[in-house]
Amino acid sequence: MDIISHAIWGVTFVRKKDLFWLAMFFGALPDLISTGIGSLYSFLKTGSFLKENWWLNLPIWSKHLYFLFHSIFGLLILFFILFLFKRKFLILIIPYFLHIFIDLFTHRGDPIFRLFYPFIGYSTERVFGINWWESSFVILLNIILIVGINIFIFLKNKIYGKIKES
Ligand SMILES: [Zn+2]
Repeated sequence: MDIISHAIWGVTFVRKKDLFWLAMFFGALPDLISTGIGSLYSFLKTGSFLKENWWLNLPIWSKHLYFLFHSIFGLLILFFILFLFKRKFLILIIPYFLHIFIDLFTHRGDPIFRLFYPFIGYSTERVFGINWWESSFVILLNIILIVGINIFIFLKNKIYGKIKES
């Protein structure tokens, strides 16, 4: 999905006030530390943002970073960094995981290649998923789910809070 949705999904699942911005950040992190840096690099180099053939024109290293940080190894790297240095932030693995998980369905490609990069090669026989930017259905479904789940949790907490009070 788009990076803004990933950030919002992050705070939808990590509902802690003090971790609000961090949950957003970790939701967007797999893109920020790969194609985000790659886009910034080409902007600094050429003076303009990549528009047409965005993916094709990205530096090759940023594509490798993209696949690495969208794989379970990216997830494990983050897990060990948090585990060793900031154990109380381990919950931020959830937004990161959600990002990888949602992208499996919203990017057309080989999910096994994506998950086990760089150890398993790409196979066209396993191709699966819908490119979100090509499908208004996926974009709409994403918005409905984000809004629906947040309203549901909000109402549930309100009703549950009232029952607890009485
Ligand atoms: Zn992504």
